[in-house]
Amino acid sequence: MCQRGHRHTHAHSHASVRNHVEPGHSSRRDFLRVLMGGTLAGASVLELAWHRAAWARSAGPTDSKLFDLEKAADGVYFAKARAQAVINCNAAVFVRSNDVVVVDAHSKPSAAASLLAQIKRELTDKPVRYVVNTHFHWDHSQGNHAYRQTGSKVEILATNATKRLMSGLSVKRMHESADDIAQALEAMRKRAASSNSAAEKAFCAEQIRQMEAYEAELKDFTLELPDITFDDAYELKDSAFDLHLQFHGRAHTEGDVFVHCPQRRAIATGDASHGWVPNLGDGFPQAWPATIDNVMQADFKYVLGGHGPMQPDRTIMTCQRNYIEELTGKVEEGKRDGLSVAEMQKRFTVASLRSLQSNGYAAFLTRIQSEGHPRFSSADDSPLQNDINGNIRDIYNNLNRA
Ligand SMILES: [Zn+2]
Repeated sequence: MCQRGHRHTHAHSHASVRNHVEPGHSSRRDFLRVLMGGTLAGASVLELAWHRAAWARSAGPTDSKLFDLEKAADGVYFAKARAQAVINCNAAVFVRSNDVVVVDAHSKPSAAASLLAQIKRELTDKPVRYVVNTHFHWDHSQGNHAYRQTGSKVEILATNATKRLMSGLSVKRMHESADDIAQALEAMRKRAASSNSAAEKAFCAEQIRQMEAYEAELKDFTLELPDITFDDAYELKDSAFDLHLQFHGRAHTEGDVFVHCPQRRAIATGDASHGWVPNLGDGFPQAWPATIDNVMQADFKYVLGGHGPMQPDRTIMTCQRNYIEELTGKVEEGKRDGLSVAEMQKRFTVASLRSLQSNGYAAFLTRIQSEGHPRFSSADDSPLQNDINGNIRDIYNNLNRA
């Protein structure tokens, strides 16, 4: 998603800010808290019933799918999130001998409910027994509540750091997401009004519908914290295969978990390694590459990241690691020399970064950014550079973060 202004976003690369909404810190935070608080307090029983019904509908077989399920190996599936105005993360789905383990829970309960229904339709009748939150971000955990509504016992797992960050930040970030969405809605309405293209107007109308549905649903947001937490490692054993939940060091956040399945040579990586431009808003730029080096000591082939496509090998993981290392080195040096963020954004271009030009990484990212998004005349000129500019700003701010 594009990284706007100096927002401390959990941003992700995307073709256009108009195509996605990525909440972050907001200057209008206080205003928003009041607004959302008031809305919630004043929500009528009818309104609440409306979005509960919407949630139930989205779990039904007639609703359009939010994910595409791809098989990585026996019992290992990748739920690739389809493009939505308010992003959902991907999930990794592990079908074991008697139950299912799902990694990550999307931006809203209805998306998690939709995936649950899809697993039942397309994969198995076995119940989901465990949900892993790879990290605390809203688009990976706000759907947790759906797993509490399944009628069978589901336990949520994460690191202690993630639980602490969720306790402290999830509600705040949810309100900030509402703030960003309010702004995006306003922009989208303006865009629809000024467009002469019927296709663009229809696109805008659908984006508006999706954002309004998100706003309505999150009015009764229920924070669901992890039940099982650990510092470094936790193992889920099964006769089908084992899952090693591991913390390898700070990276995208303070508490990133990797879920490694040695018998199937697959690893779910959340946002610490994925197919979009990495986001460093809550990240540890100097530590991140070494964390990936630790991860890469394990035996795996399939990389199931939190966004973007599944990777059949380690190429993109290596590209991303090298990119973070190179850009961090340049920003560190630039900061030492007294360069401003704006000066560095001019200097560190897509063409000048060696890591982006190696192994087709820039071309890969550009292709992913445009995937699933209609282009209209008003599309961004250089979405990849926009995201790199966001990375420069975030690295600058997060250097030497304690
Ligand atoms: Zn994230």
